[in-house]
Amino acid sequence: MTLTLSNIAKTFPDGTRALLPTDLEIGQGEIVSLLGPSGCGKSTLLRIIAGLETPDAGASVMFEGEDVTRQSVETRRIGMVFQSYALFPNMSVRGNIGYGLKMQKLGRAEIDARVNEVIALCRLDAQADRAITALSGGQRQRVALARAVAPRPRVLLLDEPLSALDAALRAELRDELALLLREFGITAIFVTHDQTEAMAIADRVAVMRQGEVAQIGTPEALYRNPATGFIARFIGDAMPLEGRIEADRLYMPGGVLDLPKSAEGHEVLVRPEDIRLDPDGPVAARVEAVTFLGTHYRLALAGATQGVIFALHTGLSAPRPGDDLRLSIASEALLILPRERTA
Ligand code: ATP
Repeated sequence: MTLTLSNIAKTFPDGTRALLPTDLEIGQGEIVSLLGPSGCGKSTLLRIIAGLETPDAGASVMFEGEDVTRQSVETRRIGMVFQSYALFPNMSVRGNIGYGLKMQKLGRAEIDARVNEVIALCRLDAQADRAITALSGGQRQRVALARAVAPRPRVLLLDEPLSALDAALRAELRDELALLLREFGITAIFVTHDQTEAMAIADRVAVMRQGEVAQIGTPEALYRNPATGFIARFIGDAMPLEGRIEADRLYMPGGVLDLPKSAEGHEVLVRPEDIRLDPDGPVAARVEAVTFLGTHYRLALAGATQGVIFALHTGLSAPRPGDDLRLSIASEALLILPRERTA
């Protein structure tokens, strides 16, 4: 189903402008993530799509050309998955998944067929007759997902569905969720504040900031062509290189970098993976701290620019804290972006 949002804004009675006028078009079967820091309006936008919150006048929410702006949550035919599973603890997996179908007054055979279908899809066969209390957190979240898709919703809305799980399980379920959502083929909107999660799961990511969609695109497009420093910081952890800019050169405390283009009035950022340790490099730095992370070392470096910057270093050994070294950064790896007021 295609979802078309036009002029969606939300001002709460206390005057809080949670959402500024927002337009968004989501294609059939597309998975879009709403990503952004706490309080940027992600949940408000999701709740408006669900029909749990009323937008300001002038908004329109269209499901496949049908105007649902004034429809209640019950009639919109959406599926929802929340951080808290909101399952019936004493009912079996099967009972939980079939509950919504019973409410729809579907026949016994139809209910059984649909429940079996999603149980197989969500790989819950072995747990189908267990009570919810006898399941792990990951299994409970799969039941919540199965229950949401069983009634064949027009759109699936997920609000931080993985954030109650521990780190290891979260990573595992993230990949599984990405596969499952594609198997369902349902249009889905996924709210998260976790960059990795958004990139792993979504076809397109809408990065939100202060009630606005700051940029929307595929994870790769956002990483390669961030529109602003905020996006570059949020997607791929870019760090600002402070210094004096004169045409296409950046004069930092540790040395001078050639820029790919004139950058006056802009800010220059770099990502940790683009900083090289290079004895002949143009920038001097001192190692503040070294963290070994298995696949690479993460070096905290002072003296190159105003603040501390981080570099990823692969190899069998790394410099030590206190070492002086030199860095190079390929000029095409530098991000030259419009300077913006930081919030
Ligand atoms: P989080 O990740 O912390 O859940 P979010 O991006 O989902 O944040 P929202 O919950 O959409 O953010 O909230 C957006 C803004 O609207 C916040 O400033 C919040 O304090 C405010 N807000 C939310 N609900 C209300 C309300 N009922 N009345 C007044 N302000 C509200």
